[in-house]
This record gives sequence, structure tokens and C-alpha cells, in this order.
Amino acid sequence: MFIEVTAIVGNFATTDHLNPEAVAAYADGELSPLAMHRAKIHLVHCLECREEVERQRHASKRLKESNTAKVEMPSDLRQRLMGIAQSCPDGPCAEDIPRASESFIAKLDGIARGLRRINRGK
Ligand SMILES: [Zn+2]
Repeated sequence: MFIEVTAIVGNFATTDHLNPEAVAAYADGELSPLAMHRAKIHLVHCLECREEVERQRHASKRLKESNTAKVEMPSDLRQRLMGIAQSCPDGPCAEDIPRASESFIAKLDGIARGLRRINRGK
């Protein structure tokens, strides 16, 4: 039994503790399939490394949550942007605004509007 537990898999003894990089990579699921397999074998036997992986997972989760919070748009900015979308409907009045130079997209838009007008006339 003892021999099985300490059996060497490749050049990685299952009794070797995972180094911090391996723990982080394991927690993030970024280990290669072989390294993942070796780490799992070690973790079955080693409470110390299992706890380390658990700590790393929590830290990683907290980091992701704080990153998401930073990207979060301020609610007043979001409301102002929503207001712009509602106060600027695309309708027939949009083409009444004089434009100095039309982009290619604007020209296509104009053609599409013209076609719609023709279809409505039928
Ligand atoms: Zn260990």
C-alpha cells in the first residue's frame, strides 16, 4: 500500500507537494492533461495540497469578482446612455438632418430607406 502511494508517475513523485504555480494552474484548470492527472493523484493523498488548492480557488474567484466590479458601468452613466437611445429614434426625421459628408454606411442606409419608400408606394 505504502509503495503504491509513493509510486513515481513519470518524473513526478506523487508524494511531492504541488508548487504554488501548479496549485494556481490546477485551480484555474490550466494544467496539461498529464500534469492534471498527476496533481489529482497527489491531491487524493495530500490534505495539505487540497487545502492549498481550495485557498487558491477562493482567491481566484474573489479576484474575478473584483475585476467584474471594476468593469461595471456607473448606474447614472448607464441611465444617460439609455436616455440617448430613447430620445433618438430612427425615423423619417433622421434624414432631414443635413450632413456634410456621408459615410459608406450612411449611403447604404439612405438607399435602404429609399427602397422601403418605394415598396410602401406600391
Ligand atoms: Zn501535497
